[in-house]
Amino acid sequence: MTKLSYIQANDAAWLTFLEQIERVSPYLEHLKQHIEILKRPKRVLIVDVPIVMDDGSIQHFEGYRVQHNLSRGPGKGGIRYHQDVNLNEVMALSAWMTIKTAVLNLPFGGAKGGVRVDPRKLSARELERLTRRYTSEISHIIGPQKDIPAPDVGTNQHVMGWIMDTYSSGQGYTVTGVVTGKPIHLGGSLGRVKATGRGVFVTGREVAKKIKLSLKGAKVAIQGFGNVGSEAGFLFVESNAKVTHIQDHTGTIFNKNGIDLEALRDYVTVNEGVGGFTGAQLIADEEFWSAEVDIMIPAALEGQITIDRAQNFQAQLILEGANGPTYPKAEDILVERGIVVVPDVVCNAGGVTVSYFEWVQDMASYFWSEEEINERLDKLMVQAIEDVWNTANNNTCTLRTAAYILACERILKARKERGVFPG
Ligand code: NAD
Repeated sequence: MTKLSYIQANDAAWLTFLEQIERVSPYLEHLKQHIEILKRPKRVLIVDVPIVMDDGSIQHFEGYRVQHNLSRGPGKGGIRYHQDVNLNEVMALSAWMTIKTAVLNLPFGGAKGGVRVDPRKLSARELERLTRRYTSEISHIIGPQKDIPAPDVGTNQHVMGWIMDTYSSGQGYTVTGVVTGKPIHLGGSLGRVKATGRGVFVTGREVAKKIKLSLKGAKVAIQGFGNVGSEAGFLFVESNAKVTHIQDHTGTIFNKNGIDLEALRDYVTVNEGVGGFTGAQLIADEEFWSAEVDIMIPAALEGQITIDRAQNFQAQLILEGANGPTYPKAEDILVERGIVVVPDVVCNAGGVTVSYFEWVQDMASYFWSEEEINERLDKLMVQAIEDVWNTANNNTCTLRTAAYILACERILKARKERGVFPG
């Protein structure tokens, strides 16, 4: 098969995904003949996003929306604003969404978007203009039955509100179901903001039981104290674990007695990072990866767990809050060392699961209580990790390969039954 002309040899995130697909291939028997479809995105859109800055100058930003696979339903996936966003990364993130929605058996395909921008350097008005222009550029391929964006790194519910408003203006009526992760009064769902962190906790708790790791007194290290990392941290502390190490883009902090997360959250709200927090000591960033902890939660960016870092890991359990934090060869080392990795495609699927609930609620114009949402979320996450665990045992493979087996079977069966047009 020909290689994609727009992918370079050093495009790490996409190549990681391809390697994950290679690894699942031997388990797929007759469906293997359809696997090529997962090695290329269905649709890639690159857009120029020009905006007028507050000082009157015009700046251009590069934006993307990639629909990796739509075999099982509309595309679903977040929008990332980060200065390092590139096509390879968005493709990989969209592909992981395809796998994730299928592992959870949600009726969606996989998509992802992004703009190559440091949102912290824009004023609120500039951010709004950027979001509205980007939405307008991708509006012909998104929609409640086509592709439904959501927040990711650097975007939040306010950004989703602007996307919903811009898209609705183009349609001439209010279309709440075009994005998820919206503010509650715009058709958002209760429980959505905390859902990904909650899912990380629920899958972690279930696997901890299986490997007989007690959460009481367990030490936890978290990379990223944003939406995902902070909520997961709070839930582990509620279960009597202690978070001893936290790293973000401003530094790495450590407190052997457990960091006071409430105080840290207040500090981060004002200071936009954990660096300088007086309730813990600042340590060298690299020390984070050999921290003496039981549970490690990478919840920031992809490509964090390298071969070198995997060799020094002390944790028994890794919960991938972030997408794609572990390189495949690093995972081989972790597996050899008996460290259990709960893969991103199930571990951080809580967000997309409640996004699904939000979409269903928008379609029905009938909204559920937070209790109902959390109950349904917990039930789906527990079922998904149970299925993944059993598939891993039945095939003597890692939890990641097991998740890919479950997902690829669902996606490729759908593809097979739909057939290849025009046949
Ligand atoms: P966020 O923007 O709320 O937080 C990101 C955190 O990462 C921040 O604490 C930031 O300081 C930290 N960070 C950024 N660059 C870093 C660096 N170089 N080193 C260390 N830390 C760094 O983002 P989020 O929503 O919490 O998402 C975090 C991860 O979880 C991403 O990989 C995202 O794709 C994934 N994820 C998010 C959701 C969701 O619902 N938000 C769902 C699934 C997966």
